Amino acid sequence: MKLSRRELFVTSSVALGTFSHAFGQTPPAPAAPEPPQTSFDPLRGNVGIFTGRGGTIGMLVAPDGLVVVDTQFVDTATIALRNLKQMSGRQIDVLINTHHHGDHTGGNSVFRPAAKQHVAHRNVPALQKAQAAAAKSEVPQAYADTTYDTTWSTKLGAETISLKYYGPGHTSGDSVVRFQNANIVHMGDLMFYLRNPRVDRGAGASIKNWIVTLESVAKDNPADTIYIAGHSKVNLPLNVMRADLLKFRDYFSGLLAYVQKGIASGRSAAEIVKVASVPGFTDYEGSPEGTIQAAYDELTAKG
Ligand SMILES: [Zn+2]
Repeated sequence: MKLSRRELFVTSSVALGTFSHAFGQTPPAPAAPEPPQTSFDPLRGNVGIFTGRGGTIGMLVAPDGLVVVDTQFVDTATIALRNLKQMSGRQIDVLINTHHHGDHTGGNSVFRPAAKQHVAHRNVPALQKAQAAAAKSEVPQAYADTTYDTTWSTKLGAETISLKYYGPGHTSGDSVVRFQNANIVHMGDLMFYLRNPRVDRGAGASIKNWIVTLESVAKDNPADTIYIAGHSKVNLPLNVMRADLLKFRDYFSGLLAYVQKGIASGRSAAEIVKVASVPGFTDYEGSPEGTIQAAYDELTAKG
């Protein structure tokens, strides 16, 4: 579905320009920031994805259930909510955060007043509070008020939505969100498609357990499950399949093997991170430096 935001913006700019011109003297106003490009794309069984900027938003839009997974930022969340209201007059049944990072929770305050319930793993609110304090964030925060330890589930009409915590991965509060009937799983940032991922060790991440998690999720779901990635390489889709999950697992295994070998041969972290890509994974977008450093820190951590 195409949104009308751009048209509205263009219309108001023209109006403003005409107004300024009429008074002759007024210097041109500084260019307003470009509105974010957004789209909503249905995937299967009433589940789709909204993309703007930040982590992918998942949505269930059914006659008997409305679910939103992650919220990006205030500006794109505002567009997404308006878009959702055009598709359904129903109140949002469940708002979910896959984890605490600002590009997944920054629009919480936009969605929360429109939602009955706000769910995340129990580690998320504290991590989100610490993150907002450390960043001196002026973005209004909204924190999940329903939390869980290992699994949480609810039924809305024909759809069953379940959240599962597989232990530390990208952070220590990542939920894997499954829409059973649609056979779609939102991975949050446990899935980066062909992009070197962020590993948030400060928030309790673990590459070793991330590998186990990807393998477990692949086993827990049917062969034809569609997985929604939190982020993907530019111009590549955000919906991926089991083979992509397993390739990402292999990327991490290759990463740990590469770093372990470097440590064993006495190389410093600075030397080990100095590569264009994780060996064998040249198609991954972005600098691998931060990811390799996180692997080094994990492998050399005491205790
Ligand atoms: Zn993240």
